[in-house]
Amino acid sequence: MKEIVEVAVGLPVFKTFHYLIPEKMRDFLQIGMRVIVPFKGRKVTGFSIDLLELPPKGVEEKLREVEDLLDEAPLIDSQMLRLYRWISDYYLYPLGEVIKTGLPPGLQLKSELILSLTQNGINSLAQGGLEPIQEKVLKEIGRCGKISLKKILKLFIGEVSRSQLISWKRKRFLNIDAGIEGKEVKPKFEKVIQYQDIESSQPLSKKQAEILNWIKEKREVSYSELNKRFKSPSKSLQVLQAKGIISIFRREVCRDLSVRSELKPYPKPEPTSNQEAVLSEIIKGIHSKRFSPFLIFGVTGSGKTEIYLRAIEEVLAQGREAIVLVPEISLTPQLLSRFKDRFGENLALLHSGLGRGERYDQWRRIWRGEVKIAMGARSAIFAPFKNVGIIIIDEEHDPSYKQEEKLKYHARDVAVVRAKQAEATILLGSATPSLESFYNAEKGKFRLLHLPERIEGKPLPKVEIVDMREGGGLISEKLKISLQKNIEDKKQSLLFLNRRGFANFILCPDCGHTFKCPNCNVTLTYHLRDRSLQCHYCDYRIQAPGDCPKCQGHRLQGMGIGTERLEQEIRLLFPESQVERMDRDTTSRRRSHLQILKRLESGSIDILVGTQMIVKGHDFPNITFVGVVSADTSLHFPDFRSSERTFQLLTQVAGRAGRGEALGEVVIQTFNPDHYSILRAKDHDYSGFYQEESQFRKALEYPPFSRLVNFRLVGNSEKRTKVMAEEMGRIGQTILKKRYGKGIEVLGPSTAPFAKMRGKFRWQMLAKGESPQLLHQFAREIASGMEVQIKKKGVNLDIDVDPVYIL
Ligand code: ADP
Ligand code: ZN
Repeated sequence: MKEIVEVAVGLPVFKTFHYLIPEKMRDFLQIGMRVIVPFKGRKVTGFSIDLLELPPKGVEEKLREVEDLLDEAPLIDSQMLRLYRWISDYYLYPLGEVIKTGLPPGLQLKSELILSLTQNGINSLAQGGLEPIQEKVLKEIGRCGKISLKKILKLFIGEVSRSQLISWKRKRFLNIDAGIEGKEVKPKFEKVIQYQDIESSQPLSKKQAEILNWIKEKREVSYSELNKRFKSPSKSLQVLQAKGIISIFRREVCRDLSVRSELKPYPKPEPTSNQEAVLSEIIKGIHSKRFSPFLIFGVTGSGKTEIYLRAIEEVLAQGREAIVLVPEISLTPQLLSRFKDRFGENLALLHSGLGRGERYDQWRRIWRGEVKIAMGARSAIFAPFKNVGIIIIDEEHDPSYKQEEKLKYHARDVAVVRAKQAEATILLGSATPSLESFYNAEKGKFRLLHLPERIEGKPLPKVEIVDMREGGGLISEKLKISLQKNIEDKKQSLLFLNRRGFANFILCPDCGHTFKCPNCNVTLTYHLRDRSLQCHYCDYRIQAPGDCPKCQGHRLQGMGIGTERLEQEIRLLFPESQVERMDRDTTSRRRSHLQILKRLESGSIDILVGTQMIVKGHDFPNITFVGVVSADTSLHFPDFRSSERTFQLLTQVAGRAGRGEALGEVVIQTFNPDHYSILRAKDHDYSGFYQEESQFRKALEYPPFSRLVNFRLVGNSEKRTKVMAEEMGRIGQTILKKRYGKGIEVLGPSTAPFAKMRGKFRWQMLAKGESPQLLHQFAREIASGMEVQIKKKGVNLDIDVDPVYIL
């Protein structure tokens, strides 16, 4: 009899804990279910990860009981648990928190403090003589019996404080106990009425007969529908049910997501011979039912989508399931629309743009096996399928696959591991593969499949570079002429500038004053529409002043331009044209992004100005011109991937041009016309870029030629964070000397590239090495060496394992 359960709590603690299973739960509790357990004076949600007959040695006496069991069926199966364990180990992140990351939000119950009156409190209230606020609050608590501390603070906001409540506990007016907050997302039900095909001879009232006729016609209706049509139908329904003519039951409903495609329909084309060749390799992999990793390196417009669709059809035919990852699903409505056209209701969507309830419902449809395909942003990699046959990662190079906070996983790496564990096929697709993936293909870890041509042999666009060092202002003569010509030809144009807002920053030419974000130590961006200065890293925002606050000068100037200003300039230059802008500011409303793309598709936009949002895989045949207003923004980012990122952005945005009949044209403006990222993008020369970038990475020992682990300390106090960073440096050096010698190189600690972000101070230490195992061991030792210290000092250690999955 298994009487002990091992639990991973959903808290930042590395250890797992053992609890006794109470008699009444023994027949029900399984691995993968959620439990409530006592933990350090609180009650917390945890995940059952193992069942044992005997407690592990040394903890027998201290075992406490599981308090509650939250699920009737396991939320995660053994395969998912295995994946979560790998993630926890690889990214050095607590297992309970990893599992939490993989489940839809809202399944986590939180422990909270519950207030109730003591006998003394009740007596004191009856006797009177309390302070007015005391009386008011205690009365409310007494009225409710039990109420959460949080609710009381909310009810009496500004009147009573937390410490006051605690002092009343000391005076024995009230109890404060740990309880559980019940804000879990729940399945949604509807009442359904079904016609039973039984003729009844008994007489019916007029209303009953009317209702029955309607139900008979529809065979099955929901109560809410019926209620809309007939006034208070409950009574009549009861009668009809009693006579056995109808049956009434409850059915779970899915919070409705539109699965209609909203863009132009996508007919199923016959594959070209290139597509055929690639597909036959993939299908061999699928049929082998073994782990089969492929990198599809296909230029923009080479027809990768059709390959994905057909590969999935093959997998579904085997009775297996498919996961499709896309960079940001809200930004790729076209791809989604094509999938909906092909697979209809067999598709679930998982992404953060959905409401909590919607996300939960989509997750449950997968969990129950009602759909066979899950599509979504990076978190869709945790889709709870039981038998995944294929995982597809579109635009595999996209940085959004990396989660930058909390669990810093890379969905591409997790996908490779999941596919391997499930003996599945994995397709990584891109026109500009990440260096890591291409390197893996070179080493034979991924099979490389090449689509060197666009569909129907359409040529890639012609790219010209404009050297901005020669002057010419924001929009060069060349760019202007090309736009003009494109407008005259009644074609559409895209203008790309990777910076939103009006002016990059504001400067006082008299005293040199600029405006900085007090939380992030970066300059604030000027937005004309609401005349505000905004921080693009946190929510900080102020009204732009008229005069310089430092010297009272009147000549404040905007420096550098953003998309808002670009849009204005373009409208002035081409007053007859329809100009629109797509960036975070114009797409904050739900679906506004889709609306812009619809207008683009229908031809009611001539020129679309935008940030990297316009780069993502759109396929519109009438776009024949793309202008890159400044190629330099991403080039100067303090990151060793900045050249790669620039090459990818330029190639991808250029790839939007000339997908229809007419030849595409691209103009790139830059202050770095000799930079290899820009030159190689101009020539559509991925492999040339790969060679050059590899040399640089090799020389500086960056991935993929080494592994990196970044230890970042983040704290509220500048001084304490620095002290802890120095401590980490010492620990690092000691461990290094003792055990690792030359195998690992440590850089820092030093302040991070963004030394202050969202009000927190940031330091980092970088460890580089060739052996992933060694580096991993080193990282583990640092983490545990720091764990104790950190708790004492209120600083956070954030470990960032650079994504290079090792097969
Ligand atoms: P990619 O994702 O590789 O950039 P897409 O999948 O968007 O390219 O395909 C580019 C265009 O080619 C699309 O408009 C698509 O409809 C079309 N296309 C794809 N495959 C075929 C085919 N076999 N025959 C005709 N047109 C095709
Ligand atoms: Zn800020």
